[in-house]
Amino acid sequence: MSEPPSTPGPPPPTVHLHPPIAPNDHQAYMRLALTLSRLSPPKPTNYRVGALLLSQTTNTLLSTSYTLELPGNTHAEQNCLAKLAGAFPPSGEDVALYTTMEPCWRRLSGERSCVERILGTGGRVGRVYVGVREPGVFVEGNEGRRVLREAGVEVLDVGGLEEEILEVAMAGHRHQGKGGKLARGIVAAVMQRHDP
Ligand SMILES: [Zn+2]
Repeated sequence: MSEPPSTPGPPPPTVHLHPPIAPNDHQAYMRLALTLSRLSPPKPTNYRVGALLLSQTTNTLLSTSYTLELPGNTHAEQNCLAKLAGAFPPSGEDVALYTTMEPCWRRLSGERSCVERILGTGGRVGRVYVGVREPGVFVEGNEGRRVLREAGVEVLDVGGLEEEILEVAMAGHRHQGKGGKLARGIVAAVMQRHDP
């Protein structure tokens, strides 16, 4: 057998955990984030959220994570940024965050919120794709998207996976056991809140 011809140029981008996803296939990336969220341990005090950072310019995954992956009471978006450790691609590249649930803007613990952490990248995260609004179980009225937009970060909804996302997110919550009735009510309420 002959050697395949060598291909000059840069090596292909590193793609972890999944087969290649077409650029701008937002639903596929959100589904990957949903897959990541399933790795998070179910707990009554957390939503199980999955998130990833993507260079949209090169369609390369930069970081992936989920709630409680890193030690402490850590959130998926927070972990994605921590794992990247500031190693953003060159400043011309567009970096997007996909998260199954909108980033928190206030934390009961008083820790920095994920919205603050996103803004703390100094504009390197320019877009946030959101799978579902926060149901408001722990903190009522997430103002995160307004704060992000005012800071120049685009916030975009990726519809179609709300029910699965919430089912995974709230799997550790006690009311989930009673036939899922309340959970379905929350799904309906969250979907009604999907205004632009
Ligand atoms: Zn958060």
